[in-house]
Amino acid sequence: MLHRVLPHKEIKTPNAYSDFGTLITQEYLDAMLVKLKSEGFQFVTISELSMNLNEKRLIALTFDDGYSDNYTHALPVLELHKATATFYPVVIPCMNNSVLPLDSYYQWVDESNLQLGEREDYIRGAKKREFYWLSPEEQMSFLDKHVNNLSNSQRRVRYMTATELRELAERGNEIGSHGLSHALFTSGYMNEEKKRFELIESKRQIENAIGLPVLSFCFPSGYYDHCDIQLVSESGYKSVVLIRKKNEAECNSIPAFERLFVKPNAIGELLKELSKK
Ligand SMILES: [Zn+2]
Repeated sequence: MLHRVLPHKEIKTPNAYSDFGTLITQEYLDAMLVKLKSEGFQFVTISELSMNLNEKRLIALTFDDGYSDNYTHALPVLELHKATATFYPVVIPCMNNSVLPLDSYYQWVDESNLQLGEREDYIRGAKKREFYWLSPEEQMSFLDKHVNNLSNSQRRVRYMTATELRELAERGNEIGSHGLSHALFTSGYMNEEKKRFELIESKRQIENAIGLPVLSFCFPSGYYDHCDIQLVSESGYKSVVLIRKKNEAECNSIPAFERLFVKPNAIGELLKELSKK
């Protein structure tokens, strides 16, 4: 499970994405692919993995959220190693040329000159959780109160456009869905109707953009309730990815894949985790 990728020299510090673990360097991605290839692993998409469940030494690289650096900086490295991956874009920021509330929040944290402990609290502590579990509307009003509205040119991140997503797909990569708004499926503000809308409408919009069926769904932040895999299946998806599976029984309708969080500069740790699989 990967998110953002930038060349080392383009990563400005402090950087909340690197500190949280959702931004790795392009050099690290390259070194990781070299190492995994030398260990005899082959790279496949999630749908290919779903069709070869008994094969060993297959790896499905997944990139969540749909940041434009996936197109600019991850794709060339993947192609250099003849690897394909699965991308899970969030529809609203991709189709509207906007960003998620979390991006504005991180930018605010990085520009606020916080003391180390306080900064940690805003990135992975109680302060972060307080923001993270607000509904998208409440997150917007939090940002209105604390952060000046940033114009496009002031924003540090951009999401992939429909054209970039189509090109990724044309080059053999898989495009799945990560929902419309990154709404968390286990949060108090969600209900079944909203979940179905996130699943069906995001699928429709991405299919419209890339001209191919969207067959895999990725739960935002990996969170899901017990019946949610069934909802994913009923919405027309053939596989789902998450972080930790609740139990085996409920995952029978479609393949549900747990993922390893690819942390910055931790190839040894990654190989150790892979050897347990
Ligand atoms: Zn995500």
